[in-house]
Amino acid sequence: MSRTVTLIPGDGIGPELAEATRRVLDASGVAFAWEVQDAGEGVMAQYGTPLPEHVLESIRRNKVAIKGPITTPIGEGFRSVNVTLRQALNLYANLRPARSIRGLESRYEDVDLVIVRENTEDLYAGIEHMVGRDAAESIKIITRAASERIARFAFEYAVANGRRKVTAVHKANIMKLTDGLFLEACRTVAEGYAGRVEFEDRIVDNMCMQLVQKPDLYDVLVLPNLYGDIVSDLAAGLVGGLGVAPGANIGEDGAVFEAVHGSAPKYAGQNKANPTALMLSGVLMLRHLGYPAVADRVETAIRDVIAEGRATTYDLGGDGTTSGFADAVIAQLEAAGPAGRAVTASTATVATAGR
Ligand code: NAD
Repeated sequence: MSRTVTLIPGDGIGPELAEATRRVLDASGVAFAWEVQDAGEGVMAQYGTPLPEHVLESIRRNKVAIKGPITTPIGEGFRSVNVTLRQALNLYANLRPARSIRGLESRYEDVDLVIVRENTEDLYAGIEHMVGRDAAESIKIITRAASERIARFAFEYAVANGRRKVTAVHKANIMKLTDGLFLEACRTVAEGYAGRVEFEDRIVDNMCMQLVQKPDLYDVLVLPNLYGDIVSDLAAGLVGGLGVAPGANIGEDGAVFEAVHGSAPKYAGQNKANPTALMLSGVLMLRHLGYPAVADRVETAIRDVIAEGRATTYDLGGDGTTSGFADAVIAQLEAAGPAGRAVTASTATVATAGR
């Protein structure tokens, strides 16, 4: 029996990364059936929208998708497909682990952070308008329900993955109502985990400085949408950059796995971009689908190839190619164990593990 998954290749460097990732996942031993769906600028002419209804239907039906990045026009044009997708499917939790990789040059060796970003509201609600010709206004929405839901996700993740602490990140000293409500919701949820998971909060600017200076003090961070987006790029920078930063968008009824990075159009079609971030997003997907042992095996293969430094791409200091990196990971998987053998899923885990 195969597991059907929606595969959205995306645009820019997306299709090359998606192909490299699909090959590695196919070599993992889990039998996947890929339902390939296109979205973005390329389908606008045919469907009149960058996110056709049949793409959403495919994800709703399969409950799981993996997607390459999709370009969003800046300042004008259609709304981000990525943001619309998360809102349409109510994928309220954006999980972005940042863990050091042996062999990569970075300032720290043992970073192990998990960013839990609220994915549905805040300034990403997309409520903006001009006030006359020379002023523009954007409305920041924070609700108690969404804040408590994301805080609960962060604590449940911490419990399920043996993490010790959750830090809520905010700017409640300035945005007393919106960020104040987010913080209050986090505090309320934290009470239910007292004695099991430690809780603290940090103002976002101080948090950024602390992460740059002493990332080892932190564990799971929970943030509203915008700070989550920014701080997860910062965390990616601590462990080797966007090329190695995976992500998952998780809701009650489905999950979409994608890298933190975008479509890097200047590298499109050159077989040059780093597929690690999307491959590690595939690892998160394997865990979510209930294949923790396969996920560990694939993650180890990816990490070992990077540690050897043989096939790494330009961003990691190597001169390898996208497809060559996939070949190396597949060879590593085959050398390490019985790939290609049918694997059965164990009970699916709620919170996709990041280690
Ligand atoms: P980007 O992440 O695409 O690229 C920034 C730089 O990071 C690149 O120029 C490149 O030097 C490097 N980089 C990123 N991914 C890499 C990889 N896999 N391998 C090697 N180097 C890599 O960010 P951007 O330039 O701000 O955005 C480009 C487009 O992507 C925009 O249209 C943006 O809206 C979109 N975007 C999409 C998503 C998504 O699909 N979820 C996320 C972020 C940005």
